[in-house]
Amino acid sequence: MLIVGAELVRRLLPMADCIRLMEQAFRAASDGSSVQGLRAIIPVSGSAGGVLGVMPGAMCAPPCFGVKVVSVRHGGGGQSHQGGVLLFSAESFAPVALLHAGEITAIRTAAATAVATRALARKEARVLAILGTGEQAGTHLRALTVERDWDEIRVWGRSLAKAKALVDAVGGEVSGRLVAVAGVAEAVAGAGVVCAVTNAATPIFTADMLEAGMHLNLVGASVPGTREVDGATMAAGLLFVDNEAIARTASGDFMLALAEGAIGAGHIRCELGGVLLGHVAGRGDDAKVTIFKSLGMPVEDLVVAEFVYRAATREGAGTVAVW
Ligand code: NDP
Repeated sequence: MLIVGAELVRRLLPMADCIRLMEQAFRAASDGSSVQGLRAIIPVSGSAGGVLGVMPGAMCAPPCFGVKVVSVRHGGGGQSHQGGVLLFSAESFAPVALLHAGEITAIRTAAATAVATRALARKEARVLAILGTGEQAGTHLRALTVERDWDEIRVWGRSLAKAKALVDAVGGEVSGRLVAVAGVAEAVAGAGVVCAVTNAATPIFTADMLEAGMHLNLVGASVPGTREVDGATMAAGLLFVDNEAIARTASGDFMLALAEGAIGAGHIRCELGGVLLGHVAGRGDDAKVTIFKSLGMPVEDLVVAEFVYRAATREGAGTVAVW
């Protein structure tokens, strides 16, 4: 079995390749060629909000199956998601690789957002707002810069000092003007694309900040009971999700808006894969507000794990463990 650590994942998974892999994952999630289990989230006793997450899946192309197991804890220092993706061969049924899940999650989530932005945002949107300053904020800056050129990118965090530090850290890697701003309203005013990548439990973005033609990528709030936007925002947008079953059971943004009566059960327009497969139109109208609610899917981790495993095998990289 091949062990693939963080540095190797980073080297073998360029963002442009990962964006292409995420398109493949979204299609596989919606065309019947994959099976995904609902995530199991186990609270870790004695930890304030820390959980163990388990995400199993199987797919036909590439033919593989496996499971991501991660601990998730914010504010503990280091990566928020730690663990491994255990990849199995669909031919031998044997486990073939164990890969660094923190690095895969950081990169593939941002690449997935880039795919959603390409599919749903107005083509001419050139102002980007990133809400959050953690690991996902950094990878989102890189992924969205691969997706398109921006005139201006604004970074907001509840700590302006962290927003400035992130701007300094990635400044040389992104196109356009990159600025740290002190307020959410200031960050999103005139922005065609907004990425919410925070660990907030209550709305940081509210409907009064919406503008015609905006596209929102909601990436944080991965567990029920937490949300990054209010119910009125959810009601105002055309809602697309990565996986409908996961969204209905894990997205606080969706579930709380539904419980409040702000939206109906049929408010989810479709999975992003449905748009990529041409089954459902995306935004259609430039004035519409579109929302992509990302929760993360097992097939995202599997296509990346298989790609990195093959690349590592080709060049004889990684550590072989006798199993
Ligand atoms: P980090 O812990 O690295 O960063 C979290 C960010 O959220 C920090 O900027 C933090 O600010 C900010 N934050 C925390 N609480 C609040 C609040 N109440 N209001 C505003 N900002 C807040 O986490 P990651 O970047 O790894 O993850 C970000 C989010 O994305 C998490 O919710 C995570 O669960 C989710 N996620 C989603 C995935 C998906 O597939 N959809 C995959 C991976 C992660 P500060 O530094 O000041 O605390």
